Amino acid sequence: NKNFKVVVIGGGPGGLSVSSTVSKLLGKDQVAVIEPSSVHYYQPLWTYVGGGLKDFSESSKPMGSLMPKDAEWIQDKVTKLDPDNNQVQLSNGETIGYDYLVVAAGIQINWDQVKGLKEALGKDGVTSNYSPDSVQKTFPFIQDFKGGNAVFTFPNTPLKCPGAPTKITFLAEEAFRLQGVRDKTNVIYNTSLGKIFGVDHYGKVLQKLADERGIKVNFQTELLEIDSDKKEATFRNNATKETHKQPYDFLHVAPPQGPPTFIKESKLADAVGWVDVSKDTLRHNKYSNVFALGDCSSLPTSKTAAAITGESGVLKHNLIADLQSKKVDQAVYDGYTSCPLIVGRKQLILAEFSGYTGQPLETFPVDQRQITNVGQFLNKEVIPSIYWSALLDGSWTGPSTVRNALKFLRPANLS
Ligand code: FAD
Repeated sequence: NKNFKVVVIGGGPGGLSVSSTVSKLLGKDQVAVIEPSSVHYYQPLWTYVGGGLKDFSESSKPMGSLMPKDAEWIQDKVTKLDPDNNQVQLSNGETIGYDYLVVAAGIQINWDQVKGLKEALGKDGVTSNYSPDSVQKTFPFIQDFKGGNAVFTFPNTPLKCPGAPTKITFLAEEAFRLQGVRDKTNVIYNTSLGKIFGVDHYGKVLQKLADERGIKVNFQTELLEIDSDKKEATFRNNATKETHKQPYDFLHVAPPQGPPTFIKESKLADAVGWVDVSKDTLRHNKYSNVFALGDCSSLPTSKTAAAITGESGVLKHNLIADLQSKKVDQAVYDGYTSCPLIVGRKQLILAEFSGYTGQPLETFPVDQRQITNVGQFLNKEVIPSIYWSALLDGSWTGPSTVRNALKFLRPANLS
């Protein structure tokens, strides 16, 4: 059984951004990345893929081409965590020991929690941007849509990129206008939340836009079941507990999500199942040689790749200080996250805020609630290259330096 100084679980943006830097620092054979998948997906692109604005092929690269060259890639999945003995177990039965563990295994999608969803997905107008297979069906279904009920859902669970369900709603609504079928179409957005977007600063703008575009938003409305033979979905209003059946011609589902089972069942989990880390330092609250970042962590901010930029900088500062036995102040995460709210082919509201306080943390010295094409260009063309070339190799730790540099240009009424 092998032992490593640092073991990283997951080769998503969380795992790669940390393992790249740490393996460069420690050199060969010191860092292992445990990751079963042979493909790495840049999931933020999937909204554009579903909206017909990007090709699916641009969202993936072979995992091997992104693995840090000084790290050992163990292509298997972790089935058990044993933090009392500083080891993890793999599905092949092997155990791997560590001095430090970084958990970045992402969020688990629980397709089974909506009855009939698995069977319906990818057929007869039922789709989801949340999986690499079904995202490729979204745009063909939008193009084939001839009018009727276009229904969009937001689950009653935490989810990655909580803006994604609204983004595809806006993109589809615009596509129906361009296809000349909008006047024969009901665009219905059923969300389990009480608001269209959690942060009011941006949410108010988004709700106004939904109203202007005739998008019917139903709150506290949760998808329970899909009957694909009848093309009917069952929803429950969680305030009144009433259920109703909704006929659909197009249905985009944001599926229920939650912590990965192997984490939930381990001693690293908090009461709900996320890796129980300090929201400031990203260090585990009980096991001081364990850290976590990204979607599987308990950090109470919205689960995005953008959040990982800030999280990775903090985590690496604190982990490297330990590795070098340096007594330095711990770095502290401010909850930074971003949700580029795509509201049209050339329209975007660049929401940037602290998930901890709900306060805007905007990079540019303008009111970012405005809809711009520049924001769309940035998110569609520039941020993907920052992701591939700088976040994954550990050199991009978020826009806070840019924000601080531009601060003096910011009008006083916006601060
Ligand atoms: P992931 O990227 O999910 O990576 C986790 C890795 O862990 C995976 O490679 C997986 O194979 C591996 N793994 C899982 N289980 C195990 C195991 N047992 N053992 C070992 N490895 C394991 N974010 C933004 O910032 N902006 C956006 O606009 C945006 N839009 C999005 C739109 C959509 C449709 C979706 C689906 C996501 C979007 N996101 C967006 C969210 C973003 O993609 C995620 O927050 C980000 O990928 C999380 O990174 P992660 O490293 O925590 O997890």
